[in-house]
Amino acid sequence: MNGKAHLAAGLVTGVAYANFIGVDYTQMPILTIVSAASIGAWLPDIDIKNSSINHLIKRFLVITPFLIVAAKFFSYRITIETLMVVILALIVFRLSKHRSLSHSLLGLIITFFVFQFSGITDFKFIIDPFALGFVSHIFLDMLTPEGVELFFPVRKHIKIF
Ligand SMILES: [Zn+2]
Repeated sequence: MNGKAHLAAGLVTGVAYANFIGVDYTQMPILTIVSAASIGAWLPDIDIKNSSINHLIKRFLVITPFLIVAAKFFSYRITIETLMVVILALIVFRLSKHRSLSHSLLGLIITFFVFQFSGITDFKFIIDPFALGFVSHIFLDMLTPEGVELFFPVRKHIKIF
């Protein structure tokens, strides 16, 4: 599956979820929900060297020192500790073998703890749609012959067909 397919699945997941919880298209949270679901659906392929999300994260890591300075300058809520935890999680995901940690239940649990540590506790509009997008990615990759290491660190590839 390529990045565009996963992004499309994330969009559809976000819209379906918004419908399910009763948020209509004229309400502002629809943008947050669809964005969270799309990022969740896009993120797992951070473990592919040439993926678009990997390139984007690489740029994010390069500008991190500037983000820290900007966060300090504007006294923004994001602390250096939060940024460090997010960066550490992204690096661990980036360095993992393809379709292992970032495509597993453990990876989903790690992202949950990163959200908690970051002080993001909005389940309705951020964490739940992100998790659904993440799960949509894993599900789509499970439809391929390669499957995913769903129960990483158990190295067995799980696939549907
Ligand atoms: Zn994938």
